[in-house]
Amino acid sequence: MSKKRISLSVTQQSGFEEKYIQKALKDSWITSGGPNVNEFENKLEDYFNNKVSIAALNSGTAAIHLALILLGVKSGDEVICQSMTFSASANPILYQGAIPIFVDSEPDTWNICPEFLEVAIKDRIAKGKKPKAIIAVSLYGMPYKINEIHAIADRYEIPIVEDSAEAQGSSYKGRKCGTFGLFGILSFNGNKMITTSSGGALIANSNRLKDKAIFYATQSRDDAIHYEHSEVGYNYRMSNICAGIGCGQMEILDKNITFRREMHDFYKRVFEDINEVTVFEEPSDDYFSNYWLSTILIDNNNDKKIDKESLRLVFERENIESRPLWKPMHLQPLFFGYPFYGEKIAESLFEKGLCLPSGSNLTNDDKNRIKGAIEAFFY
Ligand SMILES: *Cc1c(COP(=O)(O)O)cnc(C)c1O
Repeated sequence: MSKKRISLSVTQQSGFEEKYIQKALKDSWITSGGPNVNEFENKLEDYFNNKVSIAALNSGTAAIHLALILLGVKSGDEVICQSMTFSASANPILYQGAIPIFVDSEPDTWNICPEFLEVAIKDRIAKGKKPKAIIAVSLYGMPYKINEIHAIADRYEIPIVEDSAEAQGSSYKGRKCGTFGLFGILSFNGNKMITTSSGGALIANSNRLKDKAIFYATQSRDDAIHYEHSEVGYNYRMSNICAGIGCGQMEILDKNITFRREMHDFYKRVFEDINEVTVFEEPSDDYFSNYWLSTILIDNNNDKKIDKESLRLVFERENIESRPLWKPMHLQPLFFGYPFYGEKIAESLFEKGLCLPSGSNLTNDDKNRIKGAIEAFFY
């Protein structure tokens, strides 16, 4: 009998999702926008202590795209982006016909490196163009070096789009990720901290920007009885059914964070005496990670045949999913030829790193199977 698949990142249900979906069906609110969407936005704004304004959209990618549009990014403009990320951080730059400028990671948070960021900004300015925006990512839930990165961005007056798709509930010095700049974004894809099946949100620092985002997300309809348009519009608003799932999911967001942080502690214990493995951790008390995914770096040990791919294959044989860290954008065929500022930090993370099962649906049985596979491999 084959064993049940243990997936990398599945989000559990709270049980409250159905109530909101039923209501939408009963009221025939089966479209984009609607009462569940408004309620979901309210719940999210509450979660951020009502310090920000939130527009619910149909994906995190759409949220990044709208942030770039609202920042006036146009064809031929340059946008700096962390290279070590998921492709959805960078694709919207191409949607705008703009040019991505990739920057390497630093080893403490694995996110955008302050030194190389400044080198990149200076060099782009010297070459004749000041970058229009910086996309900084809190990868795997770990906040980037917020103080340093924002100090540089402020000095050169370049706005930051905080890609917090993987960092809902993470914080830096007690302040939540997604709230440090003009714009932040969240994702509610099925594998993220909470899900709306597919969905995302733009976090803006004013109601005016939120309203403008919703305007673009609903086909840029001007004020008129008939359909009147003077700007390009998009179909990016969240559906009322999806928002119902989101409302139900908000009930377990904090529980999911606790659970994922416990998974991190679990891996710390399991790998404690294994010299080849380093479990990725918060660099100091300033950082609070939701540990969306628990990740490790594995040093090759040729004598013992230990490397990240052999561990991945051992997991796979046990029907346990693991995955290499995200392949940096400057190494992707899609982005060949675009400028890159850095050395080989992101590249070496990619070579040595593995993401481990971290979903909030994992049972004690699942954990025992994971632990068994690890121990069988290393001992
Ligand atoms: C998931 C993700 C996105 C995109 O979110 P979608 O809702 O899937 O469009 C963007 N950036 C990062 C880092 C992500 O992990």
